[in-house]
Amino acid sequence: MKIMANTTKSPLIFDLIAECNTSKARTGVMTLIHSIVDTPVFMPVGTQGTLKGLLPQQLENLNCQIMLSNTYHLGTRPGPEILKKAGGLHKFMGWNRGLLTDSGGFQMVSLLKLARITEEGVNFKSPYNDTECMLTPEHSIEIQNAIGADIIMQLDDVVSTLTTGPRVEEAMNRTIRWIDRCLSAHQKPEEQSIFPIVQGGLNTELRTKCAQQLIERKVNGYAIGGLSGGESKDEFWKMVHLSTDILPKNKPRYLMGVGFAVDLVVCCALGVDMFDCVFPTRTARFGCALVRHGQLNLKQEQYKYDKRPIDEKCNCSTCKEYTRAYLYQIATVETVACHLLTVHNIAFQLNLMKDIRESIKAQTFPEFVQDFMSIVYPDKTYPTWVLEALEAVNIHLS
Ligand SMILES: [Zn+2]
Repeated sequence: MKIMANTTKSPLIFDLIAECNTSKARTGVMTLIHSIVDTPVFMPVGTQGTLKGLLPQQLENLNCQIMLSNTYHLGTRPGPEILKKAGGLHKFMGWNRGLLTDSGGFQMVSLLKLARITEEGVNFKSPYNDTECMLTPEHSIEIQNAIGADIIMQLDDVVSTLTTGPRVEEAMNRTIRWIDRCLSAHQKPEEQSIFPIVQGGLNTELRTKCAQQLIERKVNGYAIGGLSGGESKDEFWKMVHLSTDILPKNKPRYLMGVGFAVDLVVCCALGVDMFDCVFPTRTARFGCALVRHGQLNLKQEQYKYDKRPIDEKCNCSTCKEYTRAYLYQIATVETVACHLLTVHNIAFQLNLMKDIRESIKAQTFPEFVQDFMSIVYPDKTYPTWVLEALEAVNIHLS
């Protein structure tokens, strides 16, 4: 018998560095073709292959190791042909670190009112010329292969968390069928990793079944999807907790669409490794700066004469150079304010994740969580869901 040497290099190697002795939190290193990514990680979202308000160079200076781009937007403009000719999105946009793309399905269903899901794919009317189009699992992977992100997502059947009944089960089963179509269509398994997406709405049995089926597939990581869409926080954390209990320890777990600081801290405790959200960049455009106790709305009169930076402890270029009084004058009026606030808000997210990682390594994560929550809720009126989610992983707030 001839033994073939296994020469296929994995496009994603995940090494766990430390696990919290108390909770399910862990920290690790994810090695991608374009970047080494320390986890838990927050990934800023750049819709059109560009982050609104930041240059790729600025993102690099902030030490951002991976960002997210939307396939739906890139698939329509510039389109896969131009991206293929450019040699992929990394080269096209001048970003040579980690990149993750979504499947395009969620954007389609949320942006286009006329999207209709069939077994074949997502049927929709083109917003440009009214023709009928179909995004199939195969087509989503074809576009994502052209974009060339390090991590790509399966096309899933997304239902709102407010949907109940047989539609939730249908969507969950279809998501499982579609991961197999995505994996068969994948042209670059040596360069890009497809993540399946755990669906199943807010139903414990369906989500369990979905996670159990997906871990049978040979993949490098998993996403938890269909949450953060208007369900109660109580249902939200329970679905995350249940999913991370089933997903294998040695692969990264990505919770889609989550980015509020409290949610990040709680979900790290529940064992999530990757997050994305448009919130920090969107709120910057409205003149809001993120700080540990919440956010500052710099449009408010109280900042008119405030000579302090947004956050005295922040190391970002905005906090080094500019006062709240200055930002008060230009926020939402001048585009430069959007740049300055976006720099700070991304720095805030990345610094928070860094503090989380360091506390896990030092085995002080439970204390970090207690300190963090006491800053956000100084009068100790902790929301019940935060208390219960943390109790579930043995972290007690007093
Ligand atoms: Zn700052």
